[in-house]
Amino acid sequence: MTDRDDYFARVGARLDLAELTKKFVIVVGVGSVGSAIATELGMRCGVGHLALVDGDRLEPPNLSRHPLDQRYLWANKADGVAEMLSAVPGIDVGALNRHIDGSFADAQLDALLHPADLIVVATDERTTQRRVSERALALDIPAVIPTLYVERGGEVFVQLGSDNPCFFCWDGFRPPDGDVRGVSAINTDALAVIQRAVYLCLAVLVPTSAEARDLAPTEQDPRLRQLFIQRPGANLLRLPLDRRHECPACRVGPSPLNGAQRRPPRRGVAAFMTARPRPSARDWSVLLRTNERPTIELFSVSETLVMEGDTVTLRWAAQNASYVEIDGIGELPTSGDREVVVTNARVFTMHAVSPRGRTTVTSDPVRVLALPTIPPVRINAVPLPVWTSGPSAPPITPRRKADPSPPRETDEQLEPLWPTFVPPAFELPQGPRLPVRFTARSRFPGPLDRHR
Ligand SMILES: [Zn+2]
Repeated sequence: MTDRDDYFARVGARLDLAELTKKFVIVVGVGSVGSAIATELGMRCGVGHLALVDGDRLEPPNLSRHPLDQRYLWANKADGVAEMLSAVPGIDVGALNRHIDGSFADAQLDALLHPADLIVVATDERTTQRRVSERALALDIPAVIPTLYVERGGEVFVQLGSDNPCFFCWDGFRPPDGDVRGVSAINTDALAVIQRAVYLCLAVLVPTSAEARDLAPTEQDPRLRQLFIQRPGANLLRLPLDRRHECPACRVGPSPLNGAQRRPPRRGVAAFMTARPRPSARDWSVLLRTNERPTIELFSVSETLVMEGDTVTLRWAAQNASYVEIDGIGELPTSGDREVVVTNARVFTMHAVSPRGRTTVTSDPVRVLALPTIPPVRINAVPLPVWTSGPSAPPITPRRKADPSPPRETDEQLEPLWPTFVPPAFELPQGPRLPVRFTARSRFPGPLDRHR
């Protein structure tokens, strides 16, 4: 048992730790709400990769509502929470000690958010909240957006991607500036909203979890629930939403980072959880510190002459890239290797992609020696029975063996629909007998064999 298994042993039966350990969550805004959600996810629920963004320092008035204590006074909040979380065995946690403001270009923001499976937008500025939600939409990454109300209680919005109403479809009625939370709330006021937000994070991260039922449509209404309003003393409201007519945020269009990977419309929550290539959270903010185009340091193929159906190993490493893309394979992390089965002579093309551009290289050409062709086994085709569909279609009755008695009426009716069954005739291939059982990967001795 590893330290991590030991740490989470008590909650292992309740959570899908194997899945959660793989997930990458970015928390934007690490105040009283964001820090509590990050701590719950990383320290209590086993999320494996957490990245925290906040430009604020922990000041004395924060202490009454923040998980960080006096020891972290005047430390950056993101750095402080990251340090606290790093005590969890096996966790991968990183921090960016900056505010997300106008100094971030969309491309930089996209580079920052791209690795996430889920973005928690817990900032207390509405403009930032809307902007991060919009880039999440452009990147097709789900977002959980908690908001505290001035008079106790609050809401959590779950933005599920470009096929569903976005945060602005709901929130657009509010004035564009101002704080999004009651600055005078005591921490207890916020707990119900924090709890709901954590449940909804788990729902999005593990669509098979019990929590995911919160998002599920009802029998009467096929829309996913996206808005959760929690008022003290009142039942939780789970509401579906409609897209706002001409919503400007919904028209944001795909980010250049996933433009080549536009996904088809998807239904349900599970469809959003596609595996993404990612850096470790520890190194993730490095993406912001460069303005250079991506460079490719290595792209090699292990063999350049192979038998048809053999595998070759591709190895690659790119710098300043958010991910790499290999034609025919898809998005991959910025360094790694992959075995590929080769059936035709080809070159491999790889693109290193960042918001600052794409750099493309091709591999050495791979030549292929074809396997000798084997004459196909001929089988006489058996015509399929044909019958008309619909309520008048005849019942499927197996034809009986030759019957000396005159055909009955039902057989007459079925005759044109059930053609006579002809047993298949097999014809062995001409030529020499095959010495071995022939599978896709076995082959005749070839010129390469002496090199193997
Ligand atoms: Zn919208």
